[in-house]
Amino acid sequence: MTSTKELKNDSWDDWRWQLDNSITTLEALRDHLNLAPEEENAFHKVGKRYVFQVTPYYLSLMDRNDPNDPVRLQALPNVKELADIYHIDQLPSFHRSGVESENPLWKEGKTDVKCIVHRYPDRVLFHLTNLCPTYCRHCSRKVHASHDSIVSDRSLIDRGISYIEARPEIRDVLLSGGDPLTIGDNKIEYVVSRLRQLPHVQIIRIGTRTPVTLPQRITPEFCQMIKKYHPIWINTQFNHPNEVTLEAKLAIERLLEAGVPVGNQSVLLKGINDSVDVMKRLVHALVMARVRPYYLYHADLVRGAEHFRTSIAEGIHIIENLRGHTSGFAVPQYVICTPLGKTPLNPNYLIGSGPGHIALRNYEWRTWKDPDA
Ligand SMILES: *Cc1c(COP(=O)(O)O)cnc(C)c1O
Ligand code: SF4
Repeated sequence: MTSTKELKNDSWDDWRWQLDNSITTLEALRDHLNLAPEEENAFHKVGKRYVFQVTPYYLSLMDRNDPNDPVRLQALPNVKELADIYHIDQLPSFHRSGVESENPLWKEGKTDVKCIVHRYPDRVLFHLTNLCPTYCRHCSRKVHASHDSIVSDRSLIDRGISYIEARPEIRDVLLSGGDPLTIGDNKIEYVVSRLRQLPHVQIIRIGTRTPVTLPQRITPEFCQMIKKYHPIWINTQFNHPNEVTLEAKLAIERLLEAGVPVGNQSVLLKGINDSVDVMKRLVHALVMARVRPYYLYHADLVRGAEHFRTSIAEGIHIIENLRGHTSGFAVPQYVICTPLGKTPLNPNYLIGSGPGHIALRNYEWRTWKDPDA
C-alpha cells in the first residue's frame, strides 16, 4: 500500500477527522515519509520553539522521498528556523536586536483590543484564533505557532466587534488568524452575523488557507451559512501548483457556487516558487480554477523564516515575465509588507520623459515615445 492509501479512509472527507488526526509527532511522520537525517534532526530541536502540525490531507501531497518537495518545505521543521541560535550569534533569540521580529506586522496598527489590527483608515484585521490546521514554516505570524500562543475567547471577540461598531469609518473587515476556519461554523456565524448588523461594514473578508491545507473544511453547510451574509470574499494562499489538487478545486467550486469570490495571496518562497516557470504554472492553475491571483508577498522579515527570503530583484523578475506574457488577470500584485503597510513593487515601464513626451517600454523591451499632455 502507498502512504496515501494507508492514510485515506472513510472519514477522509470529514474536516474534524482531519484535524483530530493531524500529524504532530516524528513517529507518525516516519510512517508516511522517508525522512532525511537533517529532517529527523530538525524535528526535536525546532519543536522546542515552534509547533509542528500537518493535516493528513496536506501530508498526502508530499513526495515520500524528496526532502526538497515544495509541500514538504512549507510544512516540515528545518534547522534554519533556529538560525539565530545555532548559526549566527549563539545567543538565545530574545537577545537579538535588529529589525527582525517574530511579528513585524503588529508594530503599527496595534489597538487596545488585542485581536484587532487597524492600520488603514477604512479596514481592520480581526484575529479570531491563533490555531491553524497545518503550520506553515514561512508564516509571518510565527509567534502564533509558538508554544505560548493564545486563542481569542468569546469576550475578546465581543470586544473586537464593539471596536468595529464604535468606528463607522470601518467598511471592510478581514477575519484572520491563525486560520479562522479552524473554528466551527457556529462561532464564525456569530461573528459574521453580528458584523452584518453594522450598517457601515460593507464587506467581510475571510483569510484562510483551508482550501490548500484542509479543503474538506469548505463543507456545503459552511457555504449555505456564509452565503446569507454577502458580500463575503475569501482569500487563500496557494504557493505551488502541486497544491491545486482535485479536492482543492472542488472546495473552491463550492465557494464560487455560493457566490463567494476567491482570491489568492501567495508568498514568494526561496526554493519553493521563486522561478518564472513555477509561478506561471501556479497562476495558470489558479485561473483555471477561477481563483484570481491577488497578491504575491515578498517573504516577511520574520525570525525563524529568514531562509525563505529572496531578493526583491528576483520577485520583480518573476512579475516582469508574467505581465504581458500571460492574461492580465493572472498577474498578482507583488507587495512587500513593512511596518508602515503594504507597498507595491513593480517593474518599471516608464523609462524616460522630456518636454511633451514620455518614453515607455513594453513587456518585450521594445520602446515607444508617447505624447504627454
Ligand atoms: C494586508 C492588510 C490589510 C488588507 O489590505 P488590502 O490591500 O486591502 O488587501 C488590512 N489591514 C492589515 C493590517 C493588513 O496587513
Ligand atoms: S495558515 Fe496562515 S496563519 Fe496559519 S501558519 Fe499558515 S501562513 Fe500562518
